[in-house]
Amino acid sequence: MIPYGRQEILDDDIEAVIQVLKSDFLTQGPAVPRFEEAIKKVTHAKYAIAMNSATSALHAACAALDLTEGDWLWTSPNTFVASANCARYCGAQVDFVDIDSKTANLCVNQLENKLKEAKAKNRLPKILIPVHLSGLSCDMEAIARVARTYGIKIIEDASHAIGASYRERPVGSCDFSDIVVFSFHPVKIVTTGEGGAAVTNDASLAARMARFRTHGITRDPSEMSHEPDGSWYYEQIDLGWNYRMTDIQAALGVSQMQRLEKYVHRRNELAKRYDQLLKELPIQKPILPTDSLSSFHLYVVRVSSKQHRKIFEGLRSRGIGVNLHYIPVHFHPYYQSFGFKKGQFPEAERYYSEAISLPLFAQMTESEQDQVVAALKSELES
Ligand SMILES: *Cc1c(COP(=O)(O)O)cnc(C)c1O
Repeated sequence: MIPYGRQEILDDDIEAVIQVLKSDFLTQGPAVPRFEEAIKKVTHAKYAIAMNSATSALHAACAALDLTEGDWLWTSPNTFVASANCARYCGAQVDFVDIDSKTANLCVNQLENKLKEAKAKNRLPKILIPVHLSGLSCDMEAIARVARTYGIKIIEDASHAIGASYRERPVGSCDFSDIVVFSFHPVKIVTTGEGGAAVTNDASLAARMARFRTHGITRDPSEMSHEPDGSWYYEQIDLGWNYRMTDIQAALGVSQMQRLEKYVHRRNELAKRYDQLLKELPIQKPILPTDSLSSFHLYVVRVSSKQHRKIFEGLRSRGIGVNLHYIPVHFHPYYQSFGFKKGQFPEAERYYSEAISLPLFAQMTESEQDQVVAALKSELES
C-alpha cells in the first residue's frame, strides 16, 4: 500500500534521540527550548510553546484567551474534530462557518454574513479558528479585517501548514491572529512522534500558555501571591494540565526542522507533477491563490459525487492508500447532539462527497506517483 502520508526518519534523527536518551534530561531539559527556537526562526513569531500535541496547544490557546462557559467559538466544518473540541474542553459552544467552494478554506463572505446575524442576536463568538486546510493559508488579511471589527480573537489552526507562507510572510508570523497552532503528528510536514506548538507575539498569552502546559504553576516570584518560602517554592495560580513535550520528542523535532524547507519544496514539486499528470482527467485539482505557498500536507482531488465511493474503494483495493479529509465535524454524533443537521453547511458537505486525498509525502518516488495516477485513470474509466 502506498500510504497517503509518511514520516521520514534519517540516521541524524535517530542519533539526536539517542543523545537525549544518554543525557540527564528526558523531559524539561534543553531540547524543548531548542525546538522552540527552531519554530520561532521559521515562523518569525516572538514566542513558541511546544506541547505534547496540537490538540493540547489548541486547548491551552483557548484557555489563554479566557474562553469559558457561555462563550462561542467558530471554526470550519471541514477540519479534524480537534479544531472544535478545544471549545468544548473550555465549556464553550461551537458553531461553524462554511467553506469556500474553490480553496475549501473558511469562506470570508459567509463569515461576514454570519457575524452580522450573530451581532443582531447578541451571540458573537469570542474566538474564531480558521484552518489552513491541506497546508494552504486561509485569506487571513480578509478574515482578520472582518473578525476584528467585532473584537473577535483569532487562533489559526496551522496543523497542516508549517513551512507555508501567505503574502510573502511565513504561516505562524501571527500578523493576522493572536495565536497560531502547529501539529507534529507523523503524517504532518515534520514530526516529533506526537507533538504540537503554539506561537504568539503577545508576551502575556505566551506566559499563560506556558503555565497551562505545566499545571498552572509559576516559579516567577513577580506572579506569586506570597514571598517565596525558599528556593524550592512555586505556586499554582491557574488550573493547568500536563501538556509538556519530552526532550526525546523535541530532539527529533529539532533534527526534522532542518529539513523543513526541503520537504515543502519537494511536496510542491510532487504536487506540480500531479497537476501535469492529471491534466486531462475529469477531476478537479487543488486551486491555489497566487499569493500563497502551500506546504502541501495534502493533495486533494475532487471527483463526481456519484462515482466518489467507487473510486475511493477502487483505489484502496489497488494498493493506493487514499484518504478523506474530512468528515464534516457537524456530521459526528457528538456534534449532532447539539442540534446540528445535515444540509447546514452545504459546501463542506459537497466537499466531503467529492474529495479524495492522494498519497503525498516528501520521499515519495515518481514511480509511486505514476502508480497512483495509473490507478486513478483506470478507476475513472471503469
Ligand atoms: C492533526 C490535526 C490536529 C490535531 O493534531 P494533534 O497533534 O494530533 O493533536 C488538529 N487540527 C488539524 C486540522 C489537524 O490536521
